[in-house]
Amino acid sequence: MTSAKTAAFSGNSTNVFFHILTQCNLKCRHCYINPQQHGQNTLPLSTIVGWLEPFSENSNTKNLIFLGGEPTLHPDLPAAIRHARKLGFGSITVDTNGYLFHDILGEVDSSEVDTFSFSLDGATQQTNDRIRGEGSFDTCIAGIRKAVLKGFNTSLIYTVSRGNIAELELMAPLVKDLGVGRFFIQVIGLRGRSANRDSENSPEGILQVERRQWIDTIPKVAQVITESGITVSYPKVFLSPDEKFECAGLVADNYFIFPNGRVYRCPLCEDFPIHSMIFKENRLVSTAKLNESDFFQLNIAEGCVMNKLIQPHNLSYDSAGEPEYKIACCLLKEEIRGT
Ligand code: SF4
Ligand code: SF4
Repeated sequence: MTSAKTAAFSGNSTNVFFHILTQCNLKCRHCYINPQQHGQNTLPLSTIVGWLEPFSENSNTKNLIFLGGEPTLHPDLPAAIRHARKLGFGSITVDTNGYLFHDILGEVDSSEVDTFSFSLDGATQQTNDRIRGEGSFDTCIAGIRKAVLKGFNTSLIYTVSRGNIAELELMAPLVKDLGVGRFFIQVIGLRGRSANRDSENSPEGILQVERRQWIDTIPKVAQVITESGITVSYPKVFLSPDEKFECAGLVADNYFIFPNGRVYRCPLCEDFPIHSMIFKENRLVSTAKLNESDFFQLNIAEGCVMNKLIQPHNLSYDSAGEPEYKIACCLLKEEIRGT
């Protein structure tokens, strides 16, 4: 049995999460895309090329992830991938809902894309399609099989909510059968659509999983999945009072780029106009204060400041008013290597 290791933040590598459009063919319940804050445009290839330029120095230490919306809806995705490869990025990933538009698997090969990362939110058609839309389970499964058959590395992302946590353990045989290389468990965050839905008054009820259920379920199921040889990552979420808290905004190098030019360093800030950077004529420039970077500096007993501001119900306090645990940075992951 391999035990979980915390994947420490590194200032020596950079992750560039590039949303090249916000358009999507699906309407997932928990979608974090917020058109008011992220724009609704599809970036022309010339802009994609221009916005990759600031990351071209030491590019072999940088991981590039193309996202949307659904990035394969962009007709110039293959050209963007080839340009990024030419710039020398350390790795190139395409995050997809599995519909694989514009015959993307036929347009690029495994020397150009390191990983196709698929999203599935249930081990059964019924659960996944209730969350992600009718037909999305079968389409995603077919897409993964096709990608594996064509020799691409694949990974699978499962966003855990109250609506699908019961099926997480059923993912073990499914990922094994599909031949997926890595499995990422995500925690549902109160962003985009789920921010409006996560309330007792919403028709679907609360989506976020309680702390006890998270701790009792996620590490155990992750361990089972690794027994098929698959490496599993999941967010740490809860830190005991003596564990060290670090904010990725201060100690890691992540960029979340949206098609309206906003660039965030923290995913939990993406619903608010507090981005710390913006593209101006293909130059990446800092925005005026106050912005998200001012929050990163605040040192509070509860850990993540943004969590306290937008998800305070995740916290609990003892009789002396002290937090019983800290909330880790949403980007801090536990990883168990496949055995
Ligand atoms: S596939 Fe992704 S971008 Fe599209 S609706 Fe679902 S979560 Fe949002
Ligand atoms: S989620 Fe919290 S800890 Fe992580 S970067 Fe954002 S503000 Fe910092």
